[in-house]
Amino acid sequence: MKEYREFLHASDNWMKGIPAAAGLYIGNAYVYSKETIVVKEGKIKDVEEAVVAYREAIARSKKEMDKIFNLAKEKMGEQRASIFEAQLMIMEDPELLDVIEQRIRDEKAEPESIVKDEFNKYLGMMFDAEDPYMSERAMDVQDIRNRIIRNLKKERWTSTIVPGMIVVSEMLTPADTILFSRNDVKAFVTEHGGLTSHAAIIARSLNIPAVLGVSKLLETVTAETELIVDGFYGYIFVNPTESQKEFFREKISQLNKVNTALKELINLPSVTKDGVEIELQANVDVTGEFERITTSGTKGIGLYRTEQLIEELGEFPDEETQTRIYTDLSARAYPDVVTIRAFDLGGDKTRLFHPVEKNPFLGLRGIRFLLDNKDIFKGQIKAIMRSATNRNVRFMLPMVSTVKEIRETKKLMKECADELKATGVKYSGKIPFGIMIEIPSAAVLASKLAPECDFFSIGTNDLIQYLMAVDRGNDLVADLYQEFHPAVLRTLKYIIEDSKQFNISISICGEMATDTLAIPVLVGLGLKSFSVSPTVAPPIKRTIRSFTYERAEQLADECIACASEEEVLEKIAAFFEEFNIQRTRYLI
Ligand code: PEP
Ligand code: MG
Repeated sequence: MKEYREFLHASDNWMKGIPAAAGLYIGNAYVYSKETIVVKEGKIKDVEEAVVAYREAIARSKKEMDKIFNLAKEKMGEQRASIFEAQLMIMEDPELLDVIEQRIRDEKAEPESIVKDEFNKYLGMMFDAEDPYMSERAMDVQDIRNRIIRNLKKERWTSTIVPGMIVVSEMLTPADTILFSRNDVKAFVTEHGGLTSHAAIIARSLNIPAVLGVSKLLETVTAETELIVDGFYGYIFVNPTESQKEFFREKISQLNKVNTALKELINLPSVTKDGVEIELQANVDVTGEFERITTSGTKGIGLYRTEQLIEELGEFPDEETQTRIYTDLSARAYPDVVTIRAFDLGGDKTRLFHPVEKNPFLGLRGIRFLLDNKDIFKGQIKAIMRSATNRNVRFMLPMVSTVKEIRETKKLMKECADELKATGVKYSGKIPFGIMIEIPSAAVLASKLAPECDFFSIGTNDLIQYLMAVDRGNDLVADLYQEFHPAVLRTLKYIIEDSKQFNISISICGEMATDTLAIPVLVGLGLKSFSVSPTVAPPIKRTIRSFTYERAEQLADECIACASEEEVLEKIAAFFEEFNIQRTRYLI
């Protein structure tokens, strides 16, 4: 990141957004703006004719959505395409459709205005919720409203996009995103929209780089403007200079080369040069990612972020749905393990059912929310128990800061097991139980938490933000988000030592484990299990295979003794040179 920061300082033709889907692309902008819809108001003469037109518009809209839904299924798989199924359901909602039709008859008013009015009742509530999740979903509903009105006007939307362009727009609906992918669009950049938007989820699953939420985008970028899109870090470069293009062309070619070379590593063991085995597991964010695991060289799932299911399904999954999904995952991973983490709701993630909080990161997040919403928590625990009959499922809690949270959870687990027993369904009450160590208090008190657990998984993303008092999403203080700060390394060392003393297994699942630069230090500190996103597993394995465990231990001691991140990075750079290890951090 340092190299990148220096690169950014050298110019001012870039804009920052949210890195919503990884990848790089250099190309021209296609500015996509939806026509503003002017809705016809006033009275109509022929009610029957208006009703027929309305029914036709609904039928046509459904047909369009059906087409999009099928395309999505083909491109993204059944599960993730369900985003569109949810939209289709709104269009089939008899209550809504009948109310509109009845109002056309009663009020003898333009169908367009009534459609707008009825949809806006829902939209008003959704936008008023002051919840980013709800406003993202509201955009989906708005899309349906506009589709119906456009069909009432019998207007066709035609795009003149040529293949190979970068779509630049104020915002994107899921339908836009999937339809553009058919035209071989190479990247997306939007002024609004965040990580949880359906457009972002779709872009990620289609592997199309995307940078969302770039403010003042449309004031700056016009048709055909040349752009560089960096979906890894969330930057776009407007009218890039030759040297910027050169910089990124080089990155793109390295990325392609590394991707090809790394394929060969997949079946090689994950061991250091002196034969110490290091376990490599996968982080799974969306169920579809499971396909990538099989070709990534990882074994088992070290972190399954269940809160992502809500994004994926577009609604909160009940116990039955969860049971089906977890059972499927555990069956596909068998005999390797699946570590299912309880919903980590709150913070910057899904804020469903949440009150407005001034400091969400310090608020009702993770286990705190779950213990406050026991019905939701028990439903999830039961689903996990029901999916664990093959004994390859582990259960993990996010955001633990006290022993009490563990004990209360165990009490609930006992209750769940008793209730399941009474209903006669198959389940397993013997699930390995672990916690994320991602809050400084848990790290300091690891020796008291360890006897209550079967395993620890270190969540460096949060641990670093809470330890350094730096919001992990705030660009203004990004410089202080230092994963190599000696305080971070020392904290890791204490956690690892405590876990060893109590003989419980320990792994790391934060992004730090995806940084090739961090691997030797982490191994040297005593970590022998890593859980990383499947796409980065090959470069991590290559790094592990290039140094000795013995020297890594020395490196860790040297780094622990440093006073600053800069000093640590110097030690690591020397280590990389000594073993001739290639850095690939940027490329992941
Ligand atoms: C972490 O905090 O390091 C972690 C893995 O959890 P998440 O990124 O889901 O908060
Ligand atoms: Mg976390």
